[in-house]
Amino acid sequence: MTKIVNHWIGGKTAAGASGTYGPVTNPATGEVTTKVAFASVEEVDAAVAAAKEAYLSWGQSSLAARTSILFRFRALLDAHRDEIAELITAEHGKVHSDALGEVARGLEIVDLACGINVQLKGELSTQVASRVDVSSIRQPLGVVAGITPFNFPAMVPMWMFPLAIACGNTFVLKPSEKDPSASIRLAELLAEAGLPDGVFNVVHGDKVAVDRLLAHPDVKAVSFVGSTPIARYIHTTASANGKRVQALGGAKNHMLVLPDADLDAAADAAVSAAYGSAGERCMAISAVVAVGAIGDTLVEKIRERAEKIKIGPGTDPTSEVGPLITKAHRDKVASYVAGAADEGAEVVLDGTGHTVEGHEDGHWIGISLLDRVPTTAKAYQDEIFGPVLCVLRTETYEEAIDLINASPFGNGTAIFTRDGGAARRFQLEVEAGMVGVNVPIPVPVGYHSFGGWKDSLFGDHHIYGNDGTHFYTRGKVVTTRWPDPADAPTGVDLGFPRNH
Ligand code: NAD
Repeated sequence: MTKIVNHWIGGKTAAGASGTYGPVTNPATGEVTTKVAFASVEEVDAAVAAAKEAYLSWGQSSLAARTSILFRFRALLDAHRDEIAELITAEHGKVHSDALGEVARGLEIVDLACGINVQLKGELSTQVASRVDVSSIRQPLGVVAGITPFNFPAMVPMWMFPLAIACGNTFVLKPSEKDPSASIRLAELLAEAGLPDGVFNVVHGDKVAVDRLLAHPDVKAVSFVGSTPIARYIHTTASANGKRVQALGGAKNHMLVLPDADLDAAADAAVSAAYGSAGERCMAISAVVAVGAIGDTLVEKIRERAEKIKIGPGTDPTSEVGPLITKAHRDKVASYVAGAADEGAEVVLDGTGHTVEGHEDGHWIGISLLDRVPTTAKAYQDEIFGPVLCVLRTETYEEAIDLINASPFGNGTAIFTRDGGAARRFQLEVEAGMVGVNVPIPVPVGYHSFGGWKDSLFGDHHIYGNDGTHFYTRGKVVTTRWPDPADAPTGVDLGFPRNH
């Protein structure tokens, strides 16, 4: 029997009334295991209406009431880590340990939301003028929406909704239609934790559902994470409709290796960051820039390590890397490797012929390593989102930083060196939102913010951390005077108010 994943509206499962469904495939077998409901405009409207109704009381609820629910949710999430990771592996394909890692990083944001009372503490200035006090507070927006990608079906929604609801908003999530089950399990756990009906809703689907969220007059803000073309579209459309928007896009993350670096550590880091999760991470390293004479040695060290990676089903504890999300994506990734030599690159490892015995219909691709890739090659210019690492060579640090800063993307980047001065210079000069010094995947902890520059983020706010709290609230400043009964009346004063 094919499993069916329905929407979650007003605290319960809502069957797909539109009658439209999409297929969900197990990437390790190529088998369609699940049908996911695709929401119509009316179904999105029902979810937004449920969220609007719930906001009437949730937006007024006490911080203590909200955080006690979030603490219970945190405990449930912790207890169900394995189960959520299994749902992710079955639909995304990543190996179980990697799926557990994504749940752990999502949980960090729930931790942050449990302490929202500290973040939402206002400011008070007393006696700014005679008997006048000024306070600044932050209040929720109302109904907010999140639209999320396939590659982190639990973590990326948790970058958004814990903080959004902790701030007093209600939420409508449109997760990726490719791996929808984890989001519904999170909704069930929120309900078990005592979250009132309608505070968190999930609608599945495609552009129809997304476009309705972008246009709906009751949706006050939109958080998006996904590819750059769609992020740009979401930002433009939702902004034109008067909404607050943060839209995180794709990436091409560079790792700069200086000649003084520990080359074994750099090779370990490059292999882990390029090929982990089959390269389907927005923070994956996809370009290594080798400076000076170390290039040949570094490429050889990367090759030795990359060749040993074991690719197989995510459910097999000996697998280190799983399949790609769809057959079409697998073929697209393979096309970059197939075209690389003609574009001037040296193909050191070609993983395009890789198969896994007993799983011949899975979306498999092996590890590819391309050296001396010209910046004009498509394999360098595009976000491939697969296990393909490009190595580029430069003579100097200056050439390397110019190359990195010429990229239209600016998500994460890293430098490997033993020279503190060079690392400091790189931190200040590189045009990217997240920088690692001898750290290849510098995903910030929950209490700092996550976000890129240039085509990797559209909007003013990074996601989570203080930026998250600011995004999901709006400021209000209250100026108060309590005159002393003994004061003489001030009389009419038509001048602009001044403080004395
Ligand atoms: P995607 O852009 O195809 O889809 C993201 C979401 O948008 C999904 O919910 C999808 O249903 C919806 N969508 C897709 N096409 C749409 C359209 N034409 N109109 C309206 N909505 C549409 O991204 P993906 O393939 O699911 O995820 C991979 C991408 O996400 C990569 O580019 C990766 O770099 C990026 N990503 C970025 C970050 C980040 O923090 N910057 C994090 C994770 C993933």
